[in-house]
Amino acid sequence: MLLNQKYEIFPSDVQKETLDTWLSYCRQTYNSALLDKQRKYKLSKESYSRSAMQTQLKRDKLAWTYLKDMPSQPLQEVFRRLDHAFIKFFRKEARYPKLKKYKDYNSMTFPQFGHKPNSHYCYAASFAINGDLQLSKLGNIPIHLHRPIDGTIKQLIIKRRGTRWYAIFRVERQVYPAPINRNLAVGIDVGLNKYAVLSDGSYHENPRFLRQTEKKLKRAQQRLSHLKRGSVNYKKQVTKIQKLHEKVSNQRRDTLHKLSFNLAKKYSVIAVEDLNIRQLVKNKRLSKSISDAGWGMFRNMLSYKCERNGGLLIKVNPHFTSQDCSNCGTRVKKSLSIRTHICKGCGTILDRDYNASLNILQRGLEQLDKMPVII
Ligand SMILES: [Zn+2]
Repeated sequence: MLLNQKYEIFPSDVQKETLDTWLSYCRQTYNSALLDKQRKYKLSKESYSRSAMQTQLKRDKLAWTYLKDMPSQPLQEVFRRLDHAFIKFFRKEARYPKLKKYKDYNSMTFPQFGHKPNSHYCYAASFAINGDLQLSKLGNIPIHLHRPIDGTIKQLIIKRRGTRWYAIFRVERQVYPAPINRNLAVGIDVGLNKYAVLSDGSYHENPRFLRQTEKKLKRAQQRLSHLKRGSVNYKKQVTKIQKLHEKVSNQRRDTLHKLSFNLAKKYSVIAVEDLNIRQLVKNKRLSKSISDAGWGMFRNMLSYKCERNGGLLIKVNPHFTSQDCSNCGTRVKKSLSIRTHICKGCGTILDRDYNASLNILQRGLEQLDKMPVII
């Protein structure tokens, strides 16, 4: 399986500028391929294949020679991204691909890394002898390898986040399937009140340091609204907000990594609700807190961490998980504000989210029993 390992890199100011420029070339290429695709479809219902895009890129390079200033692989990789965006759209997993603005386009992919096997040829991205990251047409960039790279590097993604830059290695690693243990199963209800409520009776809240940074960010945003647009202090405040944003998202990702790691280690089967997150985000009242809480990210992490540990993540039908009684199945309608489940059928009284987590576990186990056994 492929896993991501992320490290911070430290390009010089000149290199940062170059990387910024390369990203904008990638973005331009993406946007113009998207426009060409739309135009071709409108004119003749013709599809615009990846190889046709590559041919067009070759022509573009003759007209705009600056495109030759960057390695060609990340530029070609752009078309794969566009293809992928359309595939996701047709699968109804994403909206129709749109033109990318500066802030939406923050990474480029080097689809090959290191030395070509049995040859002296080096791909556009590799490690230099001194351990720096080496990109052709750019040079060496110091990298902080805070933990060893575990597995074979298949690809490299260079990513910009605010003012910082990262190298993300896509690493292939062998996993050994372990037998699923039905007795080590848990249901998790992810919510807004408490971050995660488990069917074993425990729960997890967002840690205090994360809440504190979020508060600081909120205050900084309020202050910005009182400053004069374009003034020196305004610009300073914008930079400050960017940095706080970065901090919040780093802290959140970190928290979710730790939580999902511990859960995947402890349990063999984890059941969660199969929420169509996109649908939920459309609901304006809840939208901010939901997308903020990074539920989708959490589910992804759980999914690959379970797989890595030989466990299983089961997504269950979310309908009525918080309404149905986990003891007798009676449906007890309640609005979002009612936090306690009181069953009219059997008299069970439980915390709303805990009741939901029990239902999720039960549905997960039912689904597990129907799954084919892999030996
Ligand atoms: Zn009941």
